[in-house]
Amino acid sequence: MDTKELWNKCLSEIELNISKANFTTWFKNTSILKDDAGVIQVGVPNEFVKDWLYNKFHKLILKTLIGNDEHIRGVEYIINKQEQRHDQDGTTGDRLGIRPTINKELPLNDLYINKDDNLNPKYNFNSFVVGPFNELAYAVAQAIITNPGQNYNPFFVYGGTGLGKTHMIQAIGNTIKVKHPEKKVYYVSLERFAIDYINSIQNKNPNSFKEKYRKYDVIIMDDIQFISGKDKTQEELFHLFNTLYENNKQIIFSSDKHPNFIQGLEDRLQSRFASGMTVQIVEPDYESRVAIIKAKFESTNCIIEPEVIASLAESLNGNIRELEGSLNTVICQSQLKNKALSLSEVKILIKNNIRPKKNVAIKDIVKVVAEQYGISEDAIYEKTRRKEIVRARQVAMYILREDFNISYPLIGQKLGDRDHTTVIHSHLKIKDDLKTDPSLLQEIEKIRIMLK
Ligand code: ADP
Ligand code: MG
Repeated sequence: MDTKELWNKCLSEIELNISKANFTTWFKNTSILKDDAGVIQVGVPNEFVKDWLYNKFHKLILKTLIGNDEHIRGVEYIINKQEQRHDQDGTTGDRLGIRPTINKELPLNDLYINKDDNLNPKYNFNSFVVGPFNELAYAVAQAIITNPGQNYNPFFVYGGTGLGKTHMIQAIGNTIKVKHPEKKVYYVSLERFAIDYINSIQNKNPNSFKEKYRKYDVIIMDDIQFISGKDKTQEELFHLFNTLYENNKQIIFSSDKHPNFIQGLEDRLQSRFASGMTVQIVEPDYESRVAIIKAKFESTNCIIEPEVIASLAESLNGNIRELEGSLNTVICQSQLKNKALSLSEVKILIKNNIRPKKNVAIKDIVKVVAEQYGISEDAIYEKTRRKEIVRARQVAMYILREDFNISYPLIGQKLGDRDHTTVIHSHLKIKDDLKTDPSLLQEIEKIRIMLK
């Protein structure tokens, strides 16, 4: 595969993972300039895009590249002024005295992450907005930082995607490191933990795994919902939990749902998880969204009018990750145009990111789809695999994504707690079938009319 094909392939995968607006803003006008012995140089149009790709999408880009070519070791982002790129002998413009700027600090791997504790130093409480939506979790976090392992153990934070769970639990770890330098902190995603465990078994060295995880004073485990169906990992986590807990080590979990709703979670772990402090983070309310928008703009040099802040806070919903995406579209445009954008300019820019009030819309859409297919609404949320129900469910997912731009994980969560990969699959399946099945198109058009 040449680099052009490789990049096209990666782009089509990346596109599935992020919002349309983010994709067009950040990945338009990018290309692979060179594969330098496994280090891919991605050409980008300007400094801002370079920073943004690096700060927000580096992991995704690297992962996708490696997924397509396992020899790849790293990525560099290089500003590449299109018209300066090819001179006659096809080299990169050195002859004209133009050199792409190479960010010397750019790590080959995820150097941002501290190798000893896996924490990303960018997550701290300075940049963290506290409001009614997360203040209880924040208060518990502060108490834990003062006295790790004492009062709130385990601390179980749960809530929908993009609401700040990872930021919060990593910020706890980073702050404990500063306040209690003697404490050994370790952050790990459940998925990583499970891989570690499997590797230790395959290498016939389960004790090294046990020793590794038992030596920490603070263990932070992210996205614990992925424990579903990993029975051996559950067993191992159960024993680890008991050892750490008995020794007053602080344990922090995050999950996208309450322990009682994690599928296939053993009772004994469920009760352990919920035995300390269990706190939900919900979507930020209007005032908190205003505060978040202000905070994000303050960290850039962009000027934003109060009316624009108000309008953004009103129209953008509560997923902070998506909110950041929209803000960056605005910031990027404003930097390109070198001026503060007017309200109408901003409205046009973020049109794609505005979604309907989700709870209402999702339920309503399911209702209409169920009606169209003559099945009960409940069936769509349930686990049935009956053919006609699967079809209706796929159509509902397709419409939610295609017409309402709702994120894959959220669609999965709302339609009976399904994995986002199922939603991606359904979306693609319907998209594909539409190419050859005119009656399907008619059905969907009917639903669309009913939704209007
Ligand atoms: P989750 O783990 O719940 O999916 P993240 O912690 O990854 O969400 O947060 C998504 C994005 O929103 C991150 O870039 C994070 O820095 C930002 N963010 C989350 N909560 C806040 C907050 N309270 N204040 C400022 N930024 C936040
Ligand atoms: Mg997270």
